Amino acid sequence: MRYLVLTDIHANLEALDACLADASARAFDRVLVLGDIVGYGADPDAVIDRVRALKPAAIVRGNHDKVASGLEWAEGFNSVARSAAHWTLDTVTPAHRAWLVALPEGPAVVGDLIEICHGSPFDEDAYIFSEPDAARAFECSRRPLCLFGHTHHPMTFVLSDNVLDRLERSTDSESQIPIEPGAKYLLNPGSVGQPRDGDPRAAYAIVDEDRRRVELYRLPYAVDVAQAKIIQAGLPEVLAQRLGLGR
Ligand code: ZN
Repeated sequence: MRYLVLTDIHANLEALDACLADASARAFDRVLVLGDIVGYGADPDAVIDRVRALKPAAIVRGNHDKVASGLEWAEGFNSVARSAAHWTLDTVTPAHRAWLVALPEGPAVVGDLIEICHGSPFDEDAYIFSEPDAARAFECSRRPLCLFGHTHHPMTFVLSDNVLDRLERSTDSESQIPIEPGAKYLLNPGSVGQPRDGDPRAAYAIVDEDRRRVELYRLPYAVDVAQAKIIQAGLPEVLAQRLGLGR
């Protein structure tokens, strides 16, 4: 079984379509979505249609999905994120809003190997950036491979023989991480629609269950088109700029 892993799409249709085309060429059987489907980008309705059509085997909500559907207030959000969330709330169709509201809270277990969450397995809104964050997450994770998003930074932590390590991040367009027997992994594939690691290329992963490995991909997409749509929609201009910087 090959699982396509998508996280932090953030209503960026151009990035999502580029990832789907690339992933289709590499073949996958099922789809896992780790939340933040909307918020920031200009195409929430089209992106929700795409995600629904994929019939994800597992999906969890992100903090932006909660705020952009009216489920939660934008209290913890900065002014740009808040204004994008309000724009999204005003824009999405009632049916899509209801779909966002109904998205389940993570974590969710997928078979014997994988668990998915938005922020962390102990709190959907918590960020995993550091080794201490990862140590706490490992205590709660219930499968060898816990996939997370939320930070928009590709990142992998490994717990093996009680030693916690952070794996060095590859900047290649393709890289692989083997899932060694007996070890536990926390892995963020990076954001589809708003990368923040200084690399504007869209990020996604495929987990190959039989080969016990994670394939990480980065690919260019039509950033200029996504930027123009953001400006045209009247969303904060900084949201267009950051796509070009990958920040
Ligand atoms: Zn996000």
